[in-house]
Amino acid sequence: MTDQQALIEALQAHIIPRSEHGISRADISDNALKVLYRLKNAGYQAYLVGGGVRDLSLGREPKDFDVATDARPEEVKALFRNCRLIGRRFRLAHVHFGPEIIEVATFRALHDPESDEVEGDVAMQDGRIVRDNVYGTVEEDALRRDFTINSLYYNIADFSVVDFADGMADLKAGLLRLIGDPEQRYREDPVRMLRAVRFAAKLGFRIEEHSAAPIPRMASMLEHIPQARLFDEVLKLLMAGQGAETFEQLRHYHLFEYLFPDTDRLIDTDEHGTWIRFINAALRSTDQRIAEDKPVTPAFLFAAILWPAVEEEKQRLMDEDGEHEAQAMQLASSAAISQQVRRVAIPKRFSLPMREIYLLQPRLQRYGMTPAKRAQRLLGHPRFRAAYDFLLLRAEVGNAPQELADWWTDFQKGKDMPKPGGDAAGGRRRRRRRPRRKPVVESGQ
Ligand code: ATP
Ligand code: MG
Repeated sequence: MTDQQALIEALQAHIIPRSEHGISRADISDNALKVLYRLKNAGYQAYLVGGGVRDLSLGREPKDFDVATDARPEEVKALFRNCRLIGRRFRLAHVHFGPEIIEVATFRALHDPESDEVEGDVAMQDGRIVRDNVYGTVEEDALRRDFTINSLYYNIADFSVVDFADGMADLKAGLLRLIGDPEQRYREDPVRMLRAVRFAAKLGFRIEEHSAAPIPRMASMLEHIPQARLFDEVLKLLMAGQGAETFEQLRHYHLFEYLFPDTDRLIDTDEHGTWIRFINAALRSTDQRIAEDKPVTPAFLFAAILWPAVEEEKQRLMDEDGEHEAQAMQLASSAAISQQVRRVAIPKRFSLPMREIYLLQPRLQRYGMTPAKRAQRLLGHPRFRAAYDFLLLRAEVGNAPQELADWWTDFQKGKDMPKPGGDAAGGRRRRRRRPRRKPVVESGQ
């Protein structure tokens, strides 16, 4: 018998009856209930699992509802007209109800961690799971999940919660604990390190010490994760309302340096602490906007996170190569973005507005605090608002003159400020010569 089989044999599923847990059908989305009932009525097992059960148990509103079943993906598809099968690494059924998607996953089996061999439809690479489509029982499914608190199963058949991994106790204690051997679980999927930090920040939980200890020394394994997956994870980490707290923990566990290496290095070598304050300010403002239900865009946040690299390279190009500011900004933003996407992908729909935010910075400096015509024209720029917000952040940490930011604030209120005596730009360089016309906002690439 392998260790894992022994583990399953020894498994004491703890069944918590409806009267002893707080999950009510009234709090589960109608669509998730519809999926659960239809699976059950077709003779399959159907459980709500993952964040839905965890967050409801904590009295929080879940972000989405995940369903686990013994029905195969094709069998799920046959039950729902509005169902699509997705994924290669994990084959999943997505049941669509307008904007809401209920994710239905078939119970997955465990695999022997000692072997790199392909068995069924599992593929391993250097201990990492790259494909995992061998189906199993609900017990096996529970053990291959990441954290104990993510492994609680709400059973639609009798409304009980089945707890295979002592998740309820950890939920009560506020602990994030990996199921099984932490090192092996991180090796199988290094993104679990990011998930640990994400849930800790989101729920205000502590990462249990054995689950926390290996993270700094295993953080470099993130280098093997595809850039597109890391982009998705970064959004969940930094754009879910607890960005500032999450950032601090990412830095603490040495994970941030594998996501944003240049930024991390520049933060560490910045003796004035401007960059850490700048990124914190950007994250706090994003968190604030999310709390107020205002729209947020990854372009703004990514622009902020890459700004230290852009700013330093721009300054270098101006000082050493004598480039004009607009040109230096073009080159520096291209360099910073192309360097960054080697680690974390940035889709074009975000990198283009990022460039616009950057390229508008010198223009806001040049045409701010001057007679109004050109400033007026900038107000109509589709990216003006983002660029202005960006300037406010810069001013907040002393990376741009506060009086310039204030001028733009007043100017938008219709007060055309007279030019004060001092230097309009107020930046580090005093270049008054206007560069030859260059298209400042890129359209292509
Ligand atoms: P939220 O949706 O609030 O971000 P969640 O826990 O539901 O949190 P999902 O990414 O939706 O997270 O995943 C659903 C469930 O699938 C998780 O709760 C966990 O049980 C399992 N899971 C997700 N990703 C992994 C992973 N990398 N390794 C093991 N189990 C995972
Ligand atoms: Mg979820």
